[in-house]
Amino acid sequence: MSLEQEINKRKTFGIIAHPDAGKTTLTEKLLLFGGAIQEAGAVKSNKIKKGATSDFMEIERQRGISVATSVLAFEYKGKKINILDTPGHKDFAEDTYRTLTAVDSAIVVIDVAKGVEEQTIKLVEVCRMRNIPMLVFINKMDREGKDAFDLMDEVETKLGLSVTPLSWPIGIGATFKGIYNIWEKNINIFTGDNKQKISETTQIEDLTSPDLDKLIGENYAENLRNELDLVNGVYPEFDQQEYMKGNLQPVFFGSALNNFGVRELLNAFVDIAPTPQSKETDVRIVEPYENKFSGFVFKIHANMDPKHRDRLAFVKIVSGKFERNTNYLHVRQGKSMKFASPNAFFADKKEVVDESYAGDIVGLHDTGNFRIGDTLTSGEKFNFKGIPAFSPEHFRYINNADPMKAKQLEKGIDQLMDEGVAQLFTLEMNNRKVIGTVGALQYEVIQYRLEHEYGAKATYEPFSVHKACWIEVEDENTEEFREFKRVKQRYLARDKYNQLVFLADSAFTIQMTQEKFPSVKLHFVSEF
Ligand code: GDP
Repeated sequence: MSLEQEINKRKTFGIIAHPDAGKTTLTEKLLLFGGAIQEAGAVKSNKIKKGATSDFMEIERQRGISVATSVLAFEYKGKKINILDTPGHKDFAEDTYRTLTAVDSAIVVIDVAKGVEEQTIKLVEVCRMRNIPMLVFINKMDREGKDAFDLMDEVETKLGLSVTPLSWPIGIGATFKGIYNIWEKNINIFTGDNKQKISETTQIEDLTSPDLDKLIGENYAENLRNELDLVNGVYPEFDQQEYMKGNLQPVFFGSALNNFGVRELLNAFVDIAPTPQSKETDVRIVEPYENKFSGFVFKIHANMDPKHRDRLAFVKIVSGKFERNTNYLHVRQGKSMKFASPNAFFADKKEVVDESYAGDIVGLHDTGNFRIGDTLTSGEKFNFKGIPAFSPEHFRYINNADPMKAKQLEKGIDQLMDEGVAQLFTLEMNNRKVIGTVGALQYEVIQYRLEHEYGAKATYEPFSVHKACWIEVEDENTEEFREFKRVKQRYLARDKYNQLVFLADSAFTIQMTQEKFPSVKLHFVSEF
């Protein structure tokens, strides 16, 4: 197969959802269709349970699962499909944001009864910012829930999407009978009380046909015709280009648990979802079909076993072909590296591979060379853009509780920050270290890991910060900037990349600062 054919086979995507909407269940059903797993229950949920805050064994167990489910690949209809796992738990949102830099499209799962939930809003916003093509799957149609039209409205208003249905439910909850597939113009009907079985798929080209009445009964047929009339009147026709640009999002209905509507989703997905896309660097745009390999690190996973300290760096291949035992340039460090045992991921295992292609993810064993966002190339010097850090929500000073172990603490903090567990800010005034996180859970994870992996002891101290603002000034030599630095000196810090950050203690402070120092631009994202 040619390079281009290999790359065109690949579809790499992420499923985003609020916890409990059905991401794990849907993933499993997709893998079942691909024949990648044999039975339900094979995919472990990597959910961090609510009570986990103080249960480290649970966190570890979950972390172990999360490496196993980081990438799940399967073949379907001649395509190679890579699913990248995205934690739904809000304390791990930053992980999910970064993973979304490595997908070419996304499926958004929504619970029919709960509608659009908080995490969904945040994650969809990130996809929207990057114009990532999205499909929407309304799940749990076997339960009583919101009306399909109301839900479509909610998706438009709360998620800011423009939707058009490609499948339509026939009934809901107890009366849920099946799905009309708008994309393929056919009907799947449940049979049996348990709604587990799908009778033959029936092609219905003409909705006015009496066959429809025979199939689902006159009342349902009448209702379906009316609803589809309305659908036609209200929603635009599906347009591939608009979907690819992130301007139009097709919607599917179904029940992942009952494996209903999933095949409709998957068939449409393999037809319409994008193949690997080009990506911007600081020098030029890189196309997937270029002969030379390039890729970037979007996730680093540490081995929790202290005896095996190596880490696994997840690299999304952006262009060309990655080969085992071949020299590549680690651009940030300016050094050449080769990898003897790169891992590729399959449904339920990882294996050493000789070659992988643009769109794929390879796992590289790493002893501390990689940092999230690092670029690997075949020799050319450029850096992929677009792994920004967002302002953390929580901030605490971190102190050394064991003076004999200062080095270990330093190294531990450094490596944990490289993994992207949290963000480190070093205060300009006194070099004190401040750790910023998305959720309180991370502080416990960090403390625990520092102790168990690095033999260091850390304590925290409260530090009241509302938001981290990355600073942009055109000219550092103005009176205004000097004055800003003088007034705010206690709140100025450097991030891991030595960028200047203002740790503002309130929304009011931010507003006042903007008014008083208009030439100092404040950003809530590290890349601007
Ligand atoms: P995740 O947190 O998004 O990964 O959600 P899970 O896949 O773990 O599902 C959460 C719960 O919803 C589990 O108890 C599932 O069995 C259940 N569930 C998932 N899909 C459906 C569905 O289509 N119908 C019903 N009734 N329950 C479902």
